[in-house]
Amino acid sequence: MKKFQILKHVDDVIKFCEMQFPRKCNCCGKEFTDFKDFLLNTEIPSHAQNSNLQIVDFNDIQDVIAYRNCKCGTTITLPCSVGLGSKTMLLNIIGWDSEDNDISKLEVVIKLRDAVIKKVLGDNYETTKS
Ligand SMILES: [Zn+2]
Repeated sequence: MKKFQILKHVDDVIKFCEMQFPRKCNCCGKEFTDFKDFLLNTEIPSHAQNSNLQIVDFNDIQDVIAYRNCKCGTTITLPCSVGLGSKTMLLNIIGWDSEDNDISKLEVVIKLRDAVIKKVLGDNYETTKS
């Protein structure tokens, strides 16, 4: 199995996600001070462990969108790369990793997601609930 090129961009994705904070839940008003706070106080929607990510690939919009649930139950969307200079590159790399490793693009994105969460929260945090 080849190395995943996408994992070189973990820092870029984290940087972009951090730019979107502080932000509030539209429903309950809970404020998330930063990306780490957001990850700690939201969760991947249950029954959606492997489908809370959406790859958007239109002509002028290319991004990975993550869905996470606020504790009040509202789903909050978090774009992961729009605004980065390399936004089309991210989608290209996901495509290449997918072909090189013979797995779906979504599986590549899940690897990216888990690497981002692990880097922000540390090794002790479990990326998937048991
Ligand atoms: Zn809320």
